[in-house]
Amino acid sequence: MNVMLSEKNVVITGASRGIGAEIATQFAQEGASLWLTETPENYDRLKQFGHHLAREYGVSVHDHRLDLRRLDWIGECVAWLHDTAEKVDVLINNAGINILSPALSITEQQWDDVVDINLKGTFFITREIAKLMIPQQSGAMIMIASQHGVVGNENRAPYCASKAGLIHLTKALALEWAKYGIRVNAISPTFVVTEQNRDMVENPAFQRSQLPKIPLRKMAVPQDIAAAALYLASDQAGMVTGHNLVIDGGWTAQ
Ligand code: NAP
Repeated sequence: MNVMLSEKNVVITGASRGIGAEIATQFAQEGASLWLTETPENYDRLKQFGHHLAREYGVSVHDHRLDLRRLDWIGECVAWLHDTAEKVDVLINNAGINILSPALSITEQQWDDVVDINLKGTFFITREIAKLMIPQQSGAMIMIASQHGVVGNENRAPYCASKAGLIHLTKALALEWAKYGIRVNAISPTFVVTEQNRDMVENPAFQRSQLPKIPLRKMAVPQDIAAAALYLASDQAGMVTGHNLVIDGGWTAQ
């Protein structure tokens, strides 16, 4: 039986801005019920955004603080899901960070922050949410990885390593949890223009250095990523698991 997105309960991490906010908006437009997380520092921004989505689209929106570097916070967040959601249909692991630095000057703290958020914390929240999905014998999980998990690039050593790990984790979990009806897929974007990075990615010098690597000669926009998330979360993708959907204008095809 096909279940409409409007009947799905969807969890999105790092949802108050950038790609996460666009994914939340598109799921709200489809009528999905949302469980959104944000760091404590920017929790007020998530609250306001959640009110906006509820008002604009008439959907139910729940919010919670989450720092993926803290396993105890992950535990609290999953307890909140357990208490407030009758079921969890979709998890979108969107939260992630990048610290631009030559590998020769990366500190231990910088390495830990990137890898703990992008890979370790993401694994543990995914595993805990799998435990909610297993009794349902269904679920869709989507990792927002990166083209930099497929190909390397300068000044992003921990980011490249963590996103490559995330793509491979996607395959491992897809194989292990297929027997529970849980699908696990990744989306790997090229540069995506957001309010936060617009100054950097629209800078002419940056465009001169990076655009030639993209055969379609344009950066992605958050809508490109949200559209892929809608598909992978939907029952139309019922036969898709363990896949890494690159949205990179052809960068990694070369
Ligand atoms: P963004 O605007 O920086 O949003 C990232 C979100 O993650 C924010 O809500 C952020 O919260 C949250 N976050 C940061 N640290 C966290 C922590 N310790 N625990 C929980 N949440 C945390 O980034 P974006 O550009 O939208 O990127 C979203 C995802 O797409 C990331 O995984 C990124 O690696 C990936 N991606 C982005 C691009 C791109 O060019 N934009 C390209 C490829 C892949 P705060 O607002 O409090 O920091």
